[in-house]
Amino acid sequence: MAPAAPFSYPHRHLLGIVGLSAEVIDELLQLSEGYVEQNRQLDKKQATLRGRTQINLFFESSTRTRTSFELAGKRLGADVINMSVEGSAIKKGETLIDTAMTLNAMHPDVLVVRHPESGAVNLLAQKVDCAVINAGDGSHEHPTQALLDALTIRRRKRSLEGLIVAICGDVRHSRVARSNIHLLNTMGAQTRVVAPPTLLPPNIDRLGVSVFHDMYEGLAGADIVMMLRLQTERMYSAYFPSLREYFRYYGLDRDKLAAAKPDALVMHPGPMNRGVEIDTELADDIDRSVIREQVEMGVAVRMACLEILAGRFDNTASGEQLAGAAK
Ligand code: ASP
Repeated sequence: MAPAAPFSYPHRHLLGIVGLSAEVIDELLQLSEGYVEQNRQLDKKQATLRGRTQINLFFESSTRTRTSFELAGKRLGADVINMSVEGSAIKKGETLIDTAMTLNAMHPDVLVVRHPESGAVNLLAQKVDCAVINAGDGSHEHPTQALLDALTIRRRKRSLEGLIVAICGDVRHSRVARSNIHLLNTMGAQTRVVAPPTLLPPNIDRLGVSVFHDMYEGLAGADIVMMLRLQTERMYSAYFPSLREYFRYYGLDRDKLAAAKPDALVMHPGPMNRGVEIDTELADDIDRSVIREQVEMGVAVRMACLEILAGRFDNTASGEQLAGAAK
């Protein structure tokens, strides 16, 4: 058995940022730091999760998140299986729960789940015996994205506390925005959202953010400018006149970025729509954009989460919990 993790993560699953304390977030980020270094070595593999089975269950397409989780599990020595909707029984009419129960019978140690419906991953977590990591559910949460964003920011700016972070664009449909807002507020950042009124969720007043509709005002003095993708797959009506118009008012270019601090960092969770949310040349400017770094941090953060969630529970018939783990 792998030794218990050095700190006690007080949850069975990772379903969202809501409910995680600042201490737990901080500890997860500390653990991720070690993996950033390991991933830069020639030999990237270790045996922490040897003998453990990780199933990546993706009901919605993904390139970077699935690859990142796959790499993370393999670098920790786990057996990693990828299951996507295309090849699954879902197309034959099997329900979410049936699929979960079928996989559960194969004794995985961790399920990494992405689903287009908000709340579906929480439901699934109630039905299985293993740990579940939410890899994005509808417009609800994407906790590992917020953690990797936090790690990226922290490594560049030392601390999240007091930073002004402007989250811009399609906040309404974005699980990335929601998870980031919760994390940034928990860690003491000042969070702003900048979007047209049509692209803000109805409950925005309750999320503890300042709201702006103008990019120049919203970016004024910001330390971090976090752009969001237009989630057209979740749009069922017209939210803006045209892509050209959208770029003109809400797309990030050098002119709008000049309103932020001179050393402000530009982020985007990907996949980017170049020339829609962000000017293509700015996206590639290594002096301002940390978009590639976000991808690198993603693997490290997912290794930390997998170590904590898959490395600490005994899912055998005796079902004893390993030291330090909690329900
Ligand atoms: N990759 C992120 C997500 O899955 C962001 C995006 O798709 O726009 O939510």
